[in-house]
Amino acid sequence: MTKIAFIGLGNMGGPMAANLVKAGHTVAGFDLVSALLQASEATGVQPASDISQAVSGADVVVTMLPQGRHVLTAWTDILGAIPSGTLVIDCSTIDVASARKAHEMAKAADCPSLDAPVSGGTSGAAAGTLTFMAGGTPESFARAKPVLEAMGRKIVHCGEAGAGQAAKICNNMILGISMIGVCEAFALGEKLGLSHQALFDVASTSSGQCWSINTYCPVPGPVPTSPANNDYKPGFAAALMLKDLRLSQEAALATGASTPLGAEAAQLFALFEKQGNGGRDFSAIIEMLRG
Ligand code: NAD
Repeated sequence: MTKIAFIGLGNMGGPMAANLVKAGHTVAGFDLVSALLQASEATGVQPASDISQAVSGADVVVTMLPQGRHVLTAWTDILGAIPSGTLVIDCSTIDVASARKAHEMAKAADCPSLDAPVSGGTSGAAAGTLTFMAGGTPESFARAKPVLEAMGRKIVHCGEAGAGQAAKICNNMILGISMIGVCEAFALGEKLGLSHQALFDVASTSSGQCWSINTYCPVPGPVPTSPANNDYKPGFAAALMLKDLRLSQEAALATGASTPLGAEAAQLFALFEKQGNGGRDFSAIIEMLRG
């Protein structure tokens, strides 16, 4: 049993902290929103009145926050309140530069650290089946692994500081681009008089196959569990896809990488969000692409 502090009990952090409790860990939690603290208390998390109370006596601290600036602010408070040697793990999706800065802050405080963003969404967080992509030293990863295993099914060590965030934004850039490609193909097929099922049967077993068609088909019918069958309720909200695509473009700019399709995908999802679709599943972009 490990004593864990969990900071950020939102859509993802709430169920992740609950799974740590289920696995037998003692978990103290903190969120700026008191209703979320109460909801977590009902799952066995001990509510704290602030960050320093939450991290008091913790062996491991986990953060699950919206953006890089929130993580850097929270880590400043955390690192000021914990003894050296306490492991600090950030599971948020944030820019690579902020992730590396957080690691540097932890190193200066003599605390091992890991960036460990996740894939799998709120359903994966609730089911404890998330994929973790981790960046940090092998020692930090080895210490964090049993904790992450209580919240996820696949835990991948991607490399040194920031490598987890790098893997996350590269993966989601592929996803954003591939979903647009699949949507365009279905929209073209419709104009050509091709049935959704016929295109699915061919493309899902041919060279067009990918997660966006085989598992998450953006039209109703061929994959009954995809959000297209549920009025495009997320799933993975378009606003979160846009956030990740923007992070990929920030990273491309910073490193000089050429990602023209990533840039186009970011622009299309920005337009889609501007039209009031940020809260819908990202595969609903097919409606905009139909014109
Ligand atoms: P959320 O907004 O529901 O939760 C974030 C929580 O952090 C909020 O409750 C907020 O009050 C809290 N918070 C902010 N600053 C704080 C501070 N200083 N101290 C304590 N609490 C603070 O967001 P979410 O959907 O849970 O996502 C969290 C992270 O996970 C994001 O980086 C997101 O991109 C990533 N992510 C989300 C999903 C998803 O499907 N929701 C999937 C993969 C990754």
